[in-house]
Amino acid sequence: MTMDAEEDGDDLAERKMRFLFALRSKGVTDSRVLTAMERVDRGHFVKGLFSDRTYEDMPLPIACGQTISQPSVVGLMTQALCVQPRDTVLEVGTGSGYQAAILSQLARRVYTVDRHRRLVREAMEVFRTLNLTNITAIAADGSFGLPDQGPFDRILVTAAAEDPPGPLLAQLKIGGIMVLPVGQSDAVQSLIKVTRLEKGFDYEELRPVRFVPLVEGLGAE
Ligand code: SAH
Repeated sequence: MTMDAEEDGDDLAERKMRFLFALRSKGVTDSRVLTAMERVDRGHFVKGLFSDRTYEDMPLPIACGQTISQPSVVGLMTQALCVQPRDTVLEVGTGSGYQAAILSQLARRVYTVDRHRRLVREAMEVFRTLNLTNITAIAADGSFGLPDQGPFDRILVTAAAEDPPGPLLAQLKIGGIMVLPVGQSDAVQSLIKVTRLEKGFDYEELRPVRFVPLVEGLGAE
């Protein structure tokens, strides 16, 4: 090993340590979530130009004009979802695949859907490389959920709708939890947690967030 490589290695280890520290300081305290985020290296999901910012707590651009979410937001959303080991989880908005990979560490099975075929294809390649065999990625309009695979124990939406989409509410099991950003515009969105009760739903507002919008139909690529 050359001196440079050694320095790079040390630097990387330190950046990863700071990454985990930042998660904790922003309120990600659940040890199972932290372990999952320690295991799944964000570096596999950030490509090209922005790769030197992989371990910074910020959203970054990915293909198709989309973004990989800010790590602390990924952590807080995952924590709010209270995933149990036997759960089947639906994620709407595969993007880079990072959030799905985190969920795959905590759940029995993860379905993830994106309207961009290219993002689904690229995420599947990463899942294969990392041997994450309990994730199924599908190109579809996720606002309709996956009626054939549901109902789900947990649903996580990583794009903002005006209101929780009806089909997703319908595909949530009783006792199930859905976490999603809702809001009328790009600027004002809240993260909410919906729990399906025996009769009706309970809604809890968690925090302000900013996500790309949930868009109808399949994308061009
Ligand atoms: N969870 C991702 C980040 C998601 S960015 C990650 O970990 O990297 C939001 C994603 O939602 C984008 O990839 C966008 O294409 C997707 N999206 C927007 N509207 C959608 C819809 N109706 N159905 C499925 N995916 C949608």
